[in-house]
Amino acid sequence: MSAREPGRRPVTRRALLRSLGAAAFASAAAPPPGADTDADAEFERGFGDEFLDQYWQRNTAAAIAAGYYRVAGRLTIPDARYRRAYRQFLDRALARLQGLAPERLGERQRTDRAVLDGQLRYERWALASAREWQWNPAQYNVAGPFALIFSTDYAPLEQRLRSALSRLRDVPAYYAAARQAIERPTLEHTRLAIEQNQGALEVFGTELERRLEQATLADDERALFAQRLAAARGAIADHIRWLQDLEARLAAGGARSFRLGQTLYRQKFLLMNQSGEDAESLYRRAVREQQRVLEHMTQLADRLWDRYFPGAQRPADRFDRIGRMISRLSDSHVAAPDYLPSIERLIPQLAQWVGERRLIDIDLSKPLQVRATPAYERGVAIAGIEAPGPYDPGARTYFNVDPIEQLPAAQAESLLREYNDWMLPVFIIHEAIPGHYVQLMYANRSPSRIKSIFGNGAMIEGWAVYSERMMLEAGYGGQAPELWLIYWKWYLRSVTNTILDYGVHVLGMSEARAKTLLMREAFQSDQEAAGKWQRVQLSSVQLTQYYSGFSAIEQLRAQVESQQGAQFDLRRFHEQFLSYGSAPVEVIASLMRQAARG
Ligand code: ZN
Ligand code: ZN
Repeated sequence: MSAREPGRRPVTRRALLRSLGAAAFASAAAPPPGADTDADAEFERGFGDEFLDQYWQRNTAAAIAAGYYRVAGRLTIPDARYRRAYRQFLDRALARLQGLAPERLGERQRTDRAVLDGQLRYERWALASAREWQWNPAQYNVAGPFALIFSTDYAPLEQRLRSALSRLRDVPAYYAAARQAIERPTLEHTRLAIEQNQGALEVFGTELERRLEQATLADDERALFAQRLAAARGAIADHIRWLQDLEARLAAGGARSFRLGQTLYRQKFLLMNQSGEDAESLYRRAVREQQRVLEHMTQLADRLWDRYFPGAQRPADRFDRIGRMISRLSDSHVAAPDYLPSIERLIPQLAQWVGERRLIDIDLSKPLQVRATPAYERGVAIAGIEAPGPYDPGARTYFNVDPIEQLPAAQAESLLREYNDWMLPVFIIHEAIPGHYVQLMYANRSPSRIKSIFGNGAMIEGWAVYSERMMLEAGYGGQAPELWLIYWKWYLRSVTNTILDYGVHVLGMSEARAKTLLMREAFQSDQEAAGKWQRVQLSSVQLTQYYSGFSAIEQLRAQVESQQGAQFDLRRFHEQFLSYGSAPVEVIASLMRQAARG
């Protein structure tokens, strides 16, 4: 992933957190709202908190990332026995879901069912068909959950250290199972695994020893901790050496290609995006869209040329022309000390603008608080929403901004140029209002742990991308050509991500062609393009979520608009769309069409 690309990150803890609902989870024991039919009650019995408890028992790392710390003391050992049992667990749950016909369920249960069905079918496919557990050694790393246990104050330090002590016991067995599982991996994922496991050693370093000093532990506990810590460090170091030998052999030949290939890609795309469209169709649409966007950009650059470059010759090449204009517009940006305050000012301005235009109702009684990102979370993104998880209902939502004053001058300048006066509002629209923050606000009105935990990424990102266009079309920024040009560049990134991802994994796109696509044809810096090339080698389908979700929402809106004619009300459309929570657009679309028919 690339820290240069805010709002666009793979599933990390913060990416998960952003989709998690909050305040609405009053009590786990409260009767489920909306369980008004026998089928709904049956769904709640089968897939309520008890099911999630079982799920977390089998996925302790994901549990900790979701704020479910009850299983913190147990490390899941990824051996063949675990995979067999997990497959049975998935089969049983899916069979039970099959028995619950969606038509019999209320809206909340129906969307929960769709989200869960998608998640479990994806996991079964990952286990049985994609088999990434064999070819991606980077899947094996114990550090993340330990880092969360050490750095999150969910319980007193002593209690957290005791969980860690218990979790540490099986670290050697964990890495032994990993080596059993790994078979003909890709070179790229092997290298990533080496790098990330080297990073893992830091989690068990001097900082942890300092915490141990501070804690009041019994002598025997302290001794056991020291012993297990040494064994864990040894196991990680041994594993790194084993991976390095493997890397040397793979470099000589025999590695698996990092390209997923058409069959797996197609399957993964359908399971992940659930947008009602297949991979090839979306790809073809993205290629046409790229040309359309470039035409808009060419016209805007031509229109602006004389205003910004009076008397200067226009480059004949349209990419050069657009690129020069973007660079010129990037000159107007705030100074470093005004970066955070300007974001603080934008958020209420956007909320007010959206309210005045009646685009969507926003609860202004609890304003979003902007703050500098806490130190231990920095470096993941430039800025973004941090919302509490489903197991942490008391916490509040923040808009975190990574401070830039400490950055080296050249880096700060490049960031400020990227988030220039035209770009910054588009970015805040995406992240906050009416993008991610407003989507979360609506999701929380229909509390659902299932949708909070497994929410559909294409829907979540699609809404944020949709909200940018919707705001500009509604007149935000007064139709300034400068704003539109910078907006198209930003939007082109989503379109280009789709072309790149499908191109690399299905069509065998070369690195050279990818770099041309990103830098020349999408106006990205070489640093950004390098990060993107890295990311596309290590992940697949995630990069298509933005454009996939966006275009599914656009299509739905066009359908509802033509269905309702003069009756169509944009605000009602937005509020209804978001009322179903973070469900797949395909499922929301069918519920909305049903409602429109009456
Ligand atoms: Zn986003
Ligand atoms: Zn400057």
